[in-house]
Amino acid sequence: VTTVADTGDSRGAFDALRQSGLRGIAYREVFGPDPLKAEESLSGLRKQVETMRVDETPLVRVGVSPHTPFTVSAELFKRVTEYALAESLDVCIHAAESESERQFMLEGTGEFVDRLEERGIGWDAPGISTIKYFESLGVLGRRPLLVHCVTVNYDDIQTIATYEARVAHCPKSNAKLGHGVAPLLSMQSAGIRVGLGTDSAVSNNRCDLLSEARMAGLMHRAICKDNRSPSSSELLELATMGGARCLGLDSVIGSLEPGKQADVIAIDLSRLHNKPVNDAEASIIFSSLASDVVFTMIAGREVFAGATVSTVDEKAIVAEVDRLHRKFL
Ligand SMILES: [Zn+2]
Repeated sequence: VTTVADTGDSRGAFDALRQSGLRGIAYREVFGPDPLKAEESLSGLRKQVETMRVDETPLVRVGVSPHTPFTVSAELFKRVTEYALAESLDVCIHAAESESERQFMLEGTGEFVDRLEERGIGWDAPGISTIKYFESLGVLGRRPLLVHCVTVNYDDIQTIATYEARVAHCPKSNAKLGHGVAPLLSMQSAGIRVGLGTDSAVSNNRCDLLSEARMAGLMHRAICKDNRSPSSSELLELATMGGARCLGLDSVIGSLEPGKQADVIAIDLSRLHNKPVNDAEASIIFSSLASDVVFTMIAGREVFAGATVSTVDEKAIVAEVDRLHRKFL
């Protein structure tokens, strides 16, 4: 992996990207289901983003992430979108993920409504899908990166395409949580820019792009009852150029071409589990492991070779994670 788009409610990922030499966008999350507190939430977000933006680098940028339609009020969505448009900040939102979210939007029932009621917050369901709701609020005008899009229908897909919004397809998280399978091929044929995502360690034990590409291939072949589509090369494209297009970085990275940045990984296909190699693309997608990556370079700078990360102390990070984990036990 050379580039990471992360959403989080601290600047942790932003600082980690800078320190590790990775390229990426850190989308600062904002929450706030109570419409009366929208201005307060926005001003908090503004302050956080301002302090991060002074530390932006050519490789690492800041975006904003109004979390989901069930954790952010319509008022806050509108204000964050206006702010993002005015400040040219990229926007990322978890959207159309589950049946519970669909119920919340269309019927005003289910677990998310119960959670709001527990906090004394009323919810007047708009009676439309998440995507149509975002359209009505003007959110799609910022062409957000929409994470999931599992429950989207034909109309939603056309709407996403019309606004040139982008989609992060997270097949493993969607499967693990029992949410379903996003209509990858329909979204792609509508011309939507789609890349692969992992969601997060909360819903996905491995944040590993190769295994996401493999899972996407297996799932969509199973659904389509087609052993050729998506092909290995389409899946590899999804994991590389697909992601670059989603992040608006396709003129800079995503493929090895003269004039682009030297963001490169090398995968060792000589190990036994990859043998025999008849088709390198098929081996990368269907048999290689994350641990077969033996070299990573970002913008011409080597950050990983053999088994060693040169920019951060991996042992110290493992020890710190263990220490933090013990605090929760
Ligand atoms: Zn998510």
